Amino acid sequence: MSAVLVLNADCGPLQRVSLRHAVRMLFRQVAVVHEAEPDRRIGVYPMPTVVRLVSYVVTRWRHSRGPAWSRAGVLARDNRTCAYCGAAASTIDHVLPRSRGGANEWANTVAACGRCNNRKGDRTPPEARMPLRVRPFAPSWAVLS
Ligand SMILES: [Zn+2]
Repeated sequence: MSAVLVLNADCGPLQRVSLRHAVRMLFRQVAVVHEAEPDRRIGVYPMPTVVRLVSYVVTRWRHSRGPAWSRAGVLARDNRTCAYCGAAASTIDHVLPRSRGGANEWANTVAACGRCNNRKGDRTPPEARMPLRVRPFAPSWAVLS
């Protein structure tokens, strides 16, 4: 699958994404086709080789690995959905509890509803018998945009 270059709204290059990801960005109207392969289409779009973001993305993300960890970011990444029960989430749970050295990191934090967060307490998911429905990951800027 060919990679598509993503440009910022000011045409500065940001990163490469898969064609599928690029098409999803077009579909969500986050980006528009900037350059396309001649005479090739993917669905309703010209086959993109370069797409351009509709709104400008803060460029401190451009050369870093991704956005810095934040509580709001974890909630956005997980669509405000509890990683344990799927209910609406408004809190952050540390997979390895902070009291046991768990860090404020993308891979160690998930969105959780207050009930699950209380129930889990200072235990790990296996100890609490509360399996994670999703594996926490460090998002790229595109996930949070
Ligand atoms: Zn829950």
